[in-house]
Amino acid sequence: MTSFALLAMLAWAAPLAAQAPADAAAPPSRADILRGEYGRYRANNDLLFYHLDVRVDPDKKFISGKNTIRFKMLKDDTRIQLDLHAALRVDRILLGAIELKYERDSGAVFVDFPETLHSGRVYSIDFYYSGNPVETGRFGAIAFRKDPSGHPWINTACEGIGASVWWPNKDQWRDEVESMRISVSIPNALVDVSNGKFLGKTDLGDGYTRWDWLVQYPINNYDVSLNIGNYEHFADRLGSLPLDFYALPEHLPQAKKQFAQAKGMIEAYQHYFGEYPFKKDGYKLIEAPYSGMEHQSAVTYGNHFANGYLERDWTGVGISPRFDFIIIHESAHEWFGNSITAADVSDMWIHEAWATYLETLYVEYMYGRDDGLKYLNGYQSKVRNRAPIITQRGVNREPPQDQYFKGALFINTLRSIVNDDRRWWTLLHDFYQHFKYRNIMTEDVVGYFNRKTGMDLTPVFDEYLRHAALPVLELTFDGAQGTVSYRWKADEAGFAMPVKVGTRGHWQIIRPTAEWQTMKTPLTKDEFAVATELYFVGVSKR
Ligand SMILES: [Zn+2]
Repeated sequence: MTSFALLAMLAWAAPLAAQAPADAAAPPSRADILRGEYGRYRANNDLLFYHLDVRVDPDKKFISGKNTIRFKMLKDDTRIQLDLHAALRVDRILLGAIELKYERDSGAVFVDFPETLHSGRVYSIDFYYSGNPVETGRFGAIAFRKDPSGHPWINTACEGIGASVWWPNKDQWRDEVESMRISVSIPNALVDVSNGKFLGKTDLGDGYTRWDWLVQYPINNYDVSLNIGNYEHFADRLGSLPLDFYALPEHLPQAKKQFAQAKGMIEAYQHYFGEYPFKKDGYKLIEAPYSGMEHQSAVTYGNHFANGYLERDWTGVGISPRFDFIIIHESAHEWFGNSITAADVSDMWIHEAWATYLETLYVEYMYGRDDGLKYLNGYQSKVRNRAPIITQRGVNREPPQDQYFKGALFINTLRSIVNDDRRWWTLLHDFYQHFKYRNIMTEDVVGYFNRKTGMDLTPVFDEYLRHAALPVLELTFDGAQGTVSYRWKADEAGFAMPVKVGTRGHWQIIRPTAEWQTMKTPLTKDEFAVATELYFVGVSKR
């Protein structure tokens, strides 16, 4: 399920969710631990390369083939953990000509080797499988559908449930292959668009054609995608970057108009962070029957060829209708999510808070600072503050929706703490450049921001990411004395954050802590304002 699917689903299900208890307290299932944990049989090896070579039968909704998995051992061992959904059959697993034994445990496949695999050596196995994958979640994970004119339309979107719902792999977030080949055999009349650079197609002579793609960068498992359909292709360029677009023939005119927004989007993000991360693979935008997903170098799109999000003003302040939310949000993940990737699903805010914040940067780049702020603060009404953004490590469970909106508002709060835009732009650019193509944790982000700003921002990150509630600025006015007393009420011990107060246009910075401080003010309780559009905080006045 896409990061964005969750958001859309929760947004639509909000009245229901408001009554349901947060299930974050429910104990994780064995399957969630097997999938989420980076245990011994995952940590003992490092992925190098996949060649996924599958045949897809649209009529039978059947997939078969193999994944060749090349990995380097990091420790001597005789077993590794891979994953494949229980609905799919393991046909055989080969090391050269040797057939390997294996043990299945819910979605995990523990592969046993007859002799010790040695640390530092590279091994390659062929994992053959077949079956009818289950359609699950709002986007189906792998969905065998028909387009409006009756042609097969098969798409994958499997974040959350995991890529192992349709192909065997080491299905976790910490370790990525360095590169990947994707070969997809489908009936002759259809087109497959997968990730990476298109290498060519081969008529197999049996009514099927194989489409070959090469991913020349590290890639998340859930980003690996099939898009099989009656697609029309058109192309463009942004400088030396190839842009390739795929839409159904009946939508071609709308697609040509709407997909033109990709150029401005890429220019905006390149302005802030540097070159598009997957230049050799190109940038693709592909029509799909669901709202959208950030598949690396092959972003899927189902936003009705209209601005806003599913034709709504997404943050409700009149700015979202100026651009196509799905193009702007899902493509932001090329920088945050695909290039920089969280090493554990608990830290998924590194994908979603940042991609949401990048929407704001896009607005700022196109329409200026004021509109950027207005667009972003439109998200305040979607924040719930019911559970921390960072969830339990090592468990396959998606963090709460606050990772998007509260997360983006928090990043904007950091900008206000830095309070120097020139430094902020340098910090953002260098942060991205430092961690690009890497899998990182929140601690890496905090460490980097602390080092580069010279501030101790750890309590601020922790307050916003590891606690449910917002920090509240408590203000107590004494009209007779002409004073105001102030302090932070926060869950994080040591939380101290400067904040701008006073009147709009005449802000002054105060530095509240957990202890009361008092200052003179000519302003009354009603006149005294807090810059809550710059700092996402609660305010209590007495
Ligand atoms: Zn997203």
